[in-house]
Amino acid sequence: MKKIMTFLLVAAMAMSLIACGKKENNDASGKFKAGTYEGTAKGFGGEIKATVKLSADKIDEITVVGDKETEGVGSVAVKNLPTEMVSKQAVEIDGVSGATVSSNAIKEAVTAALKEAGVDASSLKASATTETKKETKTLDVDTVIVGAGGAGMTAALEAKAAGLNVVIVEKMSMAGGNSVKATGGMNAAATSVQKKLGIKDDVKTFVNDTMEGGHNVNDKKLVTIMAKDSASAIDWLASIGAPLDEVSFSGGATNKRIHRPAGGAAVGSYLVKAFQKNLEKEKIEVIYNTEAKEVIMKDGKASGIKAEGKDADYTINAKSVILATGGFGANEELYTKYRPELKGYVTTNAPGATGDGIVMGEEVGAATVDMDQIQIHPTVEQSTSLLVTESVRGEGAILVNSDAKRFTNELLTRDVVSANIIKQKDSYAYLIFDQDLRDNLSAVEEYVEAGIVKQADSIEGLAKETGLDAATLKTTVDTWNKAVANKKDSEFGRDTGMERNISKKTFYAIKIAPGVHHTMGGLKINTSTEVLNTKGKVIDGLFAAGEVTGGVHGGNRIGGNAVADFVVFGRIAGETAAKYVKAAK
Ligand code: ADP
Repeated sequence: MKKIMTFLLVAAMAMSLIACGKKENNDASGKFKAGTYEGTAKGFGGEIKATVKLSADKIDEITVVGDKETEGVGSVAVKNLPTEMVSKQAVEIDGVSGATVSSNAIKEAVTAALKEAGVDASSLKASATTETKKETKTLDVDTVIVGAGGAGMTAALEAKAAGLNVVIVEKMSMAGGNSVKATGGMNAAATSVQKKLGIKDDVKTFVNDTMEGGHNVNDKKLVTIMAKDSASAIDWLASIGAPLDEVSFSGGATNKRIHRPAGGAAVGSYLVKAFQKNLEKEKIEVIYNTEAKEVIMKDGKASGIKAEGKDADYTINAKSVILATGGFGANEELYTKYRPELKGYVTTNAPGATGDGIVMGEEVGAATVDMDQIQIHPTVEQSTSLLVTESVRGEGAILVNSDAKRFTNELLTRDVVSANIIKQKDSYAYLIFDQDLRDNLSAVEEYVEAGIVKQADSIEGLAKETGLDAATLKTTVDTWNKAVANKKDSEFGRDTGMERNISKKTFYAIKIAPGVHHTMGGLKINTSTEVLNTKGKVIDGLFAAGEVTGGVHGGNRIGGNAVADFVVFGRIAGETAAKYVKAAK
């Protein structure tokens, strides 16, 4: 470890050591050996480096560099934890929920730096000065939005654009919810981007694919709106600085329909970043670390919310309320109530996905639909709960079982592919792909950084790395490459994502199994995102969009439709709430 100290400080410290006769430098009064110290640790995406500046009696400054942490998740920990450590003069503080690996790595790196200074980090107790008395605040706005995920932020931007005074409350310390984790892209049909690329697609096929993928359980009216408004949503995203200019195949889609950022970057963090930038530009406040607890009803109308925060409790009086709290895939107790067999599954969900909006909605009479429709995603790396995007298969990867054999058309809908994996011995599989795919899909870099990818220069080498039988794996890949060349997969009838074979070294494998992913059910809404009560009547002033709602995805959500859902219905919620507020004035 590099250590930078001025000669004078060393001399001064040495004198003081001699004077008080202590071996260690963090004595009971918290005195340090002044200087700058560095420490490192392994983060989620690579090395985390901490630089700690100490003066004789306090931690002056901590800077952390961790460029490879997941954007919008680990990056939030990199930004927030150092400041909190300095303010509390301690390392053992609460990590950022949802970014545990990054938070722990930051603490480790700071601990290592302090060790360099002869300081035992565990001896530093968080100072009590931060425990101030909680305030009670009352706000008055046109629209309060609960949840700063994709739907909430989109709704806020549209409501603001329509002239409303808007505030968002978010229970976590960061925005993005499950939306920031979306890696695939956004489904949209008959878009300006598709036209430019010469891709033929239409709204009707999008509707049919979504209905078929959802086993026709979906609310067709909602699906039709999503499909119809998807093209204008793509243009709107471009207009706010978030163009999705590449289009690819994804499971369950007849045509190339999944739109993503140029270069194949993960769509979620890209959009969340753009939304946040726009919120800032539009001066829309997000009150973080603040959990909405109830919807206030007055004269049968939703008239605000009550929320509890770290530093303050709020009564937010509003002329309309938009619930955008996401799903309940992080609430095992709730989802196992509907699907007991999912007990013990890993979840890909952000920790805020606990179904609060559904509970708050039900408390004011809202109806729910399809609560038992819970999607498991077929390709989740189990030790990290990291979801491997469908685009990996869409771009040409195959799945092989522990016998190194293919066993399914990899691009069937998520429920079918998951079921087919579960049927295999020990219920896991490997995704197999090559360098050409990696070069064309930057999402793969995250998986490599996270250490979940095995690689080798040859298929035989990859077999060795994974413990698969080399001869069988070679035959499987050769057979697949022939199917690609002949554009015919006679084994499993796959007919999409066959534009590239598996032949360019390096070769890669990721071990995956299914995990809880999306809760398709939720609050019942109409096509204007108005929340309906159990008698089918609109609850005045209450709107909902995104994963908190049910009906759009039916019995199975197609990859790329979560983003379409939150952008399209988030926009409608913002616009409809604005109309409602204006009409009431
Ligand atoms: P979507 O974009 O479909 O609405 P997300 O999961 O992306 O779904 O976003 C939902 C957001 O709502 C998350 O950031 C989550 O932390 C937040 N949230 C959930 N419950 C509450 C609550 N009670 N109060 C405030 N925010 C909440």
